[in-house]
Amino acid sequence: MPRLPNDVAHLHLNVLGRDRELEIPVRVGPADVLDLLSPARAIASEVAAIAAEDARSKGREVTCRAGCGACCRQVVPISVVEATALAELVSAMPPERRARVQRRFSEAVRRLETTRLIDRRAPRGHRALHSSRSGVEEAWIDVSQRYFAAEIPCPFLEDESCSIHPERPLVCREYDVTTPPERCASLDGGAETTVRPVRMGEVLASVARSLGLTNATMIPLVLALEWADVRGGRLRVPLDGEAMLRALFAEAAAAGDAPAPASATDDLTGSR
Ligand code: SF4
Repeated sequence: MPRLPNDVAHLHLNVLGRDRELEIPVRVGPADVLDLLSPARAIASEVAAIAAEDARSKGREVTCRAGCGACCRQVVPISVVEATALAELVSAMPPERRARVQRRFSEAVRRLETTRLIDRRAPRGHRALHSSRSGVEEAWIDVSQRYFAAEIPCPFLEDESCSIHPERPLVCREYDVTTPPERCASLDGGAETTVRPVRMGEVLASVARSLGLTNATMIPLVLALEWADVRGGRLRVPLDGEAMLRALFAEAAAAGDAPAPASATDDLTGSR
C-alpha cells in the first residue's frame, strides 16, 4: 500500500521479478481524473523500462527510434481520460498548428467512415470501430487489419516522428519493438515487442469508470476530439485526489495479474 506523506506517494513496484521504488507527486485535496495522467505515465514509463531491461537480459534490444513511425498507423487505443487531455492539448496549440492537427483528425475520421470502420450515422461521441465478427478477439483482429489497410496515420505523426512526444498516450509509451523496423511494415511481419505486464491506459479507463464518471473506456485515438467535444466535460468533476490515486494504484496492481479487460476491447470495437 503506498504511503502518502505531504505531497509525494512512495510506490513499490515488483514487475517481472524486479523491484523499483517510485516517488510520485500527489495532488492533495480536490482534483479531477485527468490529474491521474501524470502518475499513470510515471508508472507506464517505469514498467516499460523494466520490460526493456528484461528483454535485454534475454539478448533482445528495443529497436524503436525517433523517425520510425511504422506503428503510428495502427489502431491506437487510448482511455477516454487521455482523449480529453489530448483534445485540450490540441485546443491549446497555436492557431496554425491547431488547424493543421484538426484537419488531420477530420481526415482520419472521414477515412474511418468511407472504409466503414465506423458508422457515419451513429452519434458523435458514441462511435466505435465496427466489426461484424462475433467474439471480442475476432472483432479486434478484424478492425486492426482493416484499420491498418486503410493507411490512417496518427494525426500527431510528423516526419515519421511523434509531434507530441512528452504528451503521447500511455500505449505509445508501453509499446516497444525488439525486432528490425522492417517487420513493422505489416501487421503479420513478425514484429516482436517487450512484454506489457500492465496496460496503464486500461487501468486509467477502469478507474474513471469505477468513479462513475463515464461508462466508456477505450477509444481509438483518431476519435479523441469528437469524443471529448461531446462527452469530455463530464470528466472534469472535482474529487478527492488521494482517494483517486489509491484507486489507480489498486487497479494497476490488480491489472498486473490479469489479462486485458474484455470490456475495453468491446468499447473500442463496438462489438456488443
Ligand atoms: S501519439 Fe505519437 S507515438 Fe502515439 S501513435 Fe501518434 S504519433 Fe505515434
